Amino acid sequence: MPEEIPLLDSNTLRAWSNFSYPQLVKELCSLFISPELIPRQELNDLIDRAFTRVRHKDVVHLSRLRNGLNVLELWHGVTYAFKDLSMSCTGQFLQYFLKKRKKHITILVGTAGDTGSSAIESIRGEKNMDIIVLLPKGLCSQMQELQMTTVIEDNVHVFAADGNSDEIDEPIKELFTNTDFARKHNLMSLNSINWSRIMVQIAHHFYAYFQCTTSLDATPLPAVEIVVPTGGGGNLTG
Ligand SMILES: *Cc1c(COP(=O)(O)O)cnc(C)c1O
Repeated sequence: MPEEIPLLDSNTLRAWSNFSYPQLVKELCSLFISPELIPRQELNDLIDRAFTRVRHKDVVHLSRLRNGLNVLELWHGVTYAFKDLSMSCTGQFLQYFLKKRKKHITILVGTAGDTGSSAIESIRGEKNMDIIVLLPKGLCSQMQELQMTTVIEDNVHVFAADGNSDEIDEPIKELFTNTDFARKHNLMSLNSINWSRIMVQIAHHFYAYFQCTTSLDATPLPAVEIVVPTGGGGNLTG
């Protein structure tokens, strides 16, 4: 990983402004993932594979409303949650390294509804990972609960627990604090602060910017205001 935030010159920006969303993800990820870590062609293939189940042909679409207001449609992924986009890439990256290193991990996720189903879809059927999801009994929407409980895969384990999602996080946090236990079982999480998710989400903002600006020739470049709904601040960090 570079030690500083990469700087992009105006020629790069101009070239990128015509890129598709998946192309932008590939370019941005390659700024942070060296070819020694993942060769460029394999990185491209992993990202393409991550987006194969997205329902929109462009993966992400900017809808133009009135008065210069636009909506970036990030909901065309498998579970309809914006996090499908980054989560599916993270799933592919994980599988790549685990296969190469012949390792197995157990992913532990507490969810309010969205994260669980998105995480499940991003790694279902993968041999090197098991996922355990705790969902708050009776507090998810019916659709979300069905999204989680109807996935029949050997590596997917879903449990309903008493309490809300914050209360469910407590015992999960305890398991991660127990470093011997966490190391023994190769525990990991798939949450908003996972760096590879943030990295992929950087592309949302570049894509939206290029779609909204008419010219990149002005100095300084035109400003665009972006409103980001947030919870854990992951998408916002991008
Ligand atoms: C995941 C999720 C969030 C939190 O996302 P951050 O990137 O951590 O801010 C907020 N709202 C919805 C609907 C979500 O699915």
